[in-house]
Amino acid sequence: MNEEEVVDPSHPRYQSLMIRKKIADAGVKGMLADSAMIAHGRGEAFDYLLGEQTLPSAKDATREVAARLVNAQRPVLSLNGNAIALAGQDFLTIASQLGCPIEINIFYRTPERMGALLGHLKLLNQKLGLDVEILGGIPDARIPGLEGPRGACQQDGLFEADAVLVPLEDGDRCEALMAMGKDVLVIDLNPLSRSSRGCSVAIVDEVSRVAKNLIQFIPEKPSVTEWDNNKALQNALDHILETMSNKFD
Ligand code: ATP
Ligand code: MG
Repeated sequence: MNEEEVVDPSHPRYQSLMIRKKIADAGVKGMLADSAMIAHGRGEAFDYLLGEQTLPSAKDATREVAARLVNAQRPVLSLNGNAIALAGQDFLTIASQLGCPIEINIFYRTPERMGALLGHLKLLNQKLGLDVEILGGIPDARIPGLEGPRGACQQDGLFEADAVLVPLEDGDRCEALMAMGKDVLVIDLNPLSRSSRGCSVAIVDEVSRVAKNLIQFIPEKPSVTEWDNNKALQNALDHILETMSNKFD
């Protein structure tokens, strides 16, 4: 899809196509790696099976994540290109509600892409009249066990954070953050991914829907519970299996 293509509002999956268009447009602006649309497509496939809706179990997980972010001493939102393209504005609002920084952490790091993402968030920051600290431009610490640019992070951001929100995170990076003893809070439409299974709390829902729900839950200051991540993942999987069974009866 190129920039000139217009999405027809009468299309039954209008919302999904609009979300896809945001990724396409961000790609044109140089904010994303070529593989971004493939990662997005994997998410889209799971969202289709979930009925492109927020399940009650995902809403509960979102409330739990809000509670953990509110209660953390040093929370950080660690965002990749897709998360910024789809919900950058809402994540700035969330960071401002929490009084925490955003750290840009991208898989394929180039100065151009990093510059485009930093510029995009700074513009949105201004537009919203916010003063959220945006980290990631000058990494000065490393996540133990991760080779190359993916291990790069900032000392006073991700490295020292006690709770990290990592939407659309890669599985082994998620594991490495868990090994550092952090509360790792994931947003991932795939309940089977290593990230979903290997984190503290996974929200199986689309990132832009989650961001809107977090903005609503954070001011309510919910309480942290004994969260059973596997139970929530099983619930999402059960929903997918129900959708798929008896489809043609
Ligand atoms: P893992 O490394 O955890 O096993 P993976 O390698 O399959 O997972 P990645 O490419 O590392 O996946 O990360 C992309 C993940 O983000 C996928 O699991 C995909 O379902 C999810 N995803 C993509 N787009 C969205 C979105 N808009 N909202 C929520 N999740 C999404
Ligand atoms: Mg992966």
